[in-house]
Amino acid sequence: MKQLPPDTVRLLSSSQVITSVLNVVKELMENSLDAGASSIDIKLENYGFDRIEVRDNGHGIKAADAPVMAVRHFTSKICSHDDLERLETYGFRGEALGSICAVAEVSVITKTAEDDISTQYTLNFTGGVVSQKPSHFGQGTTVSVLKLFKNLPVRRQYYSSTKKCKEELKKVQDLLMAYAVIKPDLRLTLVHNKVVVWQKAKVADHRSALIATLGFGTVSNLVACHHHQEQPEIVLEGFFPKAGADYSSTSSSNPDRTFIFINSRPVHHKELMKLLRQRYAAQYPDDSARNRYPTLMLKITVSPSSVDVNLTPDKTQVLLQDKEAVLTAVEAFLVSLYGYRPSVESQVEKQ
Ligand code: ADP
Ligand code: MG
Repeated sequence: MKQLPPDTVRLLSSSQVITSVLNVVKELMENSLDAGASSIDIKLENYGFDRIEVRDNGHGIKAADAPVMAVRHFTSKICSHDDLERLETYGFRGEALGSICAVAEVSVITKTAEDDISTQYTLNFTGGVVSQKPSHFGQGTTVSVLKLFKNLPVRRQYYSSTKKCKEELKKVQDLLMAYAVIKPDLRLTLVHNKVVVWQKAKVADHRSALIATLGFGTVSNLVACHHHQEQPEIVLEGFFPKAGADYSSTSSSNPDRTFIFINSRPVHHKELMKLLRQRYAAQYPDDSARNRYPTLMLKITVSPSSVDVNLTPDKTQVLLQDKEAVLTAVEAFLVSLYGYRPSVESQVEKQ
């Protein structure tokens, strides 16, 4: 038996963390949000496989931190495992930038409020800085990722069909919509091959953010919800389809407009999704909506110490310590909105 060379270990683990264009965009955007950005511009070339660029107006990276910014397990967000109990940032593992460096060519332009000018850093396979030069950008950080998966031909081939690329672009847009909904004061643009695919201006509140994302017609069929309970402390906020609204305007045949957030993180949560679909469908007497996904925003806020977000590399799945209490609170709200009809529930398709 032999130990694998370090470069092979790095490529193997990085390619598990960075699996798609979507994944890169998500990691870079979350870094921008963690840096306090109120404006993020995302540019893709050739669906992201030639270039992904994420530019923000956040606090930037200090010159002293630059040499380690993409070295794996270096992070400015937590100091120890205990800090996860108080986690308020999207990132914490110090894994993304370093992993992207192992599967693409990466450069970072950054400027803090204290810097006179911005600096462009070129990074290598291991996340080290190989060169730096002055540049002319304003405050914030721009990360450029070129030739994604250049050393993973099977993965590049997998994404090579136009159909697959278009699906990925749609997923990127869906992801941006989720952040647009949860961060009303964020300005966002998505440009592909120099064409604006989607954009959202800064707005005042979640309702305006939903209108900017889904359109006024859809949002006029949604009703605001707010529920606050103590012990365990759970805050539910959101917008749900009005009871009896025409289901073709308040639901979709796929889950891309069912926005679920736990502590501001967009998540996939099977049980919550099932509950939302069941209760939504139960209000339609002819069972016609049973295969539909309701258009809604559900924002769940619980104590950071009662959530485990370190379950999957993309952090879209979370474990809730008080899962039953959360499900009960959501269910009580849905029953009060849509009534209770047990006969429909078993018919909602299993996910
Ligand atoms: P993590 O987000 O888990 O800390 P990353 O590898 O994504 O790990 O980023 C490493 C570090 O680089 C971050 O902790 C942060 O200090 C810095 N950084 C990355 N992107 C940005 C950005 N857009 N703005 C400011 N700092 C950034
Ligand atoms: Mg990060």
